Amino acid sequence: MAKTLVFLEHHEDAIAKGSLGVLSKAAQIGGDVAGVLVGAGVRALTDSAGAFGATTVWVADDERVARALPQPRVDVLAKLVRDQGFDTVLFAQSVLGADVAAGLAARLEAGLNWGLVDFDGETGKAPQLADTVYVDVGWSTPVKLAIFRAGAFDPSEIGGTAEVKDAPVELEDFSLRAEMVEQAHAVQQGPSIEDADVIVAGGRGLGEPEKFSLAEELAQALGGAVAATRAVVDAGWYPYSAQVGQTGKTVSPKLYVALGISGAIQHKVGMQGSNVIVAVNKDPNAPIFEFADLGVVGDLHQIVPKLTELVRARRS
Ligand SMILES: Cc1cc2nc3c(=O)[nH]c(=O)nc-3n(C[C@H](O)[C@H](O)[C@H](O)COP(=O)(O)OP(=O)(O)OC[C@H]3O[C@@H](n4cnc5c(N)ncnc54)[C@H](O)[C@@H]3O)c2cc1C
Repeated sequence: MAKTLVFLEHHEDAIAKGSLGVLSKAAQIGGDVAGVLVGAGVRALTDSAGAFGATTVWVADDERVARALPQPRVDVLAKLVRDQGFDTVLFAQSVLGADVAAGLAARLEAGLNWGLVDFDGETGKAPQLADTVYVDVGWSTPVKLAIFRAGAFDPSEIGGTAEVKDAPVELEDFSLRAEMVEQAHAVQQGPSIEDADVIVAGGRGLGEPEKFSLAEELAQALGGAVAATRAVVDAGWYPYSAQVGQTGKTVSPKLYVALGISGAIQHKVGMQGSNVIVAVNKDPNAPIFEFADLGVVGDLHQIVPKLTELVRARRS
């Protein structure tokens, strides 16, 4: 029987939605599915791990792993994999998840496939060539490691209870050499673009940075998050963390509303996995209309405030 360990990343008082999605997928596949929580004060999160499909939650609750640094997490996971005989370790895409997965792959000499959108326990599915084809990927090592794209799986609550076990925290000397000097959080209202079901993205067509308020208000009305193209991020209109595309984030929300975005291939590869794409652009020949599900040709400055009003009216 497969033994799967899911790395449960957490932010303050909740397990990240991406990790819960991966956990739900692992539970669906079956076998022995455990989660691992690493941090200080994380014991309180074990209930939700059980509810989303873990039969066991390993908890490394220790001040020495309080900071979100990868190497101490690699130590904890490597020991668990070796001692408990896990053959599969799954991660949701994130900066920390990618760092831990890469370190663990090196430590265990295990194969790592990343950017996957599906998995059946043996084979993964990876979009390639700017997402124009899906490739089946496998592993030739005894332990399989995989990182899944943001939004690849929806969390599904099955209401189970997990057995909680303490994970040993035995840290290597070299793992304690890195120190986190400072960690800053951008002030954010609503969900992050990795977790959001709805994304409203703004491009150069907004005209000026102040006009991002149009995207923000629509996102707020829809309960979504705001994203941006590289053109506007490079121009300093919006933070890099919101950039979607080849050199930004890959997202797959249920709804992606593109405002004043031309639809360049480098942007498209980051959002074409969205369920429904709506584009507002004044140029009827803009490339984005070739892959949008719904296109509105017109001036976004006139259309978006009305759309936001309509959404607010419906919601109230
Ligand atoms: C190596 C490399 C990597 C890249 N990585 C990324 C990436 O990760 N993400 C990314 O986004 N880009 C990336 N790019 C840049 C990409 O090629 C495009 O330049 C960029 O996506 C364009 O951004 P935009 O759509 O905001 O701007 P534009 O291409 O300038 O499009 C603006 C659009 O707004 C429309 N518009 C203007 N005014 C209005 C109005 N009033 N109402 C409605 N519509 C209006 C215009 O018709 C136009 O279609 C990369 C490029 C390279 C070379």
